[in-house]
Amino acid sequence: MLTIKNLSAGYGAIMALHEVNLEVKQGQIVSIIGANGAGKSTLLNTIAGLVRPRRGSILFMGEELPRQPHLVVRRGIVQVPEGRKVFAGLTVKENLLMGGYRLNGREAARNLEHIFTLFPVLKERQNQYAGTLSGGEQQMLAVGRGLMSNPKVMLFDEPSLGLAPLVVNTIFNIISRIREEGVTVLLVEQNARKALALCDHAYVLENGRITMNGPGRELLADPRIRNAYLGER
Ligand code: ATP
Repeated sequence: MLTIKNLSAGYGAIMALHEVNLEVKQGQIVSIIGANGAGKSTLLNTIAGLVRPRRGSILFMGEELPRQPHLVVRRGIVQVPEGRKVFAGLTVKENLLMGGYRLNGREAARNLEHIFTLFPVLKERQNQYAGTLSGGEQQMLAVGRGLMSNPKVMLFDEPSLGLAPLVVNTIFNIISRIREEGVTVLLVEQNARKALALCDHAYVLENGRITMNGPGRELLADPRIRNAYLGER
């Protein structure tokens, strides 16, 4: 569904991605794990059209992906930002409606109801300012806002960052629920253990290069991964 070929990208003289190859099949959860600064965010931002590739291609359903962020969204690829990036001064409902700004009133109302069934807490708090939600609820809102536009693929950048362990479990359950809804997921995570347990396939990014890839459970059992990313020796 999403095929990345020989992708290189960077900032000025700094190259952050070197010849990255990656494949995300429809209906999969694919995760990218790697240390700080490995290039994970750069990879997601390049797909989202926020960083221009230097070389290589990003194919989505067989066609080169446009390089402007709004056109990428229009093709059905939505990046879920960190929960802290919801619009704090707007209500929960207003935030959700912003995510569906291209829909007509009926479609928006239908999607809103669906999101409220997925996240009952957002329904309860629909008239509350988003800035008053807890960290986990803000993350749910960010996911809900992304879902409003009927995405085919959702890109998650460290959804568990800064959240309490119980809330992290909730977020991972939500990601698996989203996949059941038919949305394909590309997940960047520092929490390698959880990401590998959840995903179908994973890639390891080190210094801008993919150094390993395989089914999540295989990588979870791999001594090199256990040593470098799961804190085991
Ligand atoms: P983290 O988990 O810390 O965000 P990451 O794996 O997402 O790490 P990136 O943020 O993609 O890594 O960074 C990859 C490299 O690119 C790093 O060396 C980083 O310093 C550099 N970099 C990232 N953003 C910029 C920028 N806007 N300008 C210059 N260099 C950048």
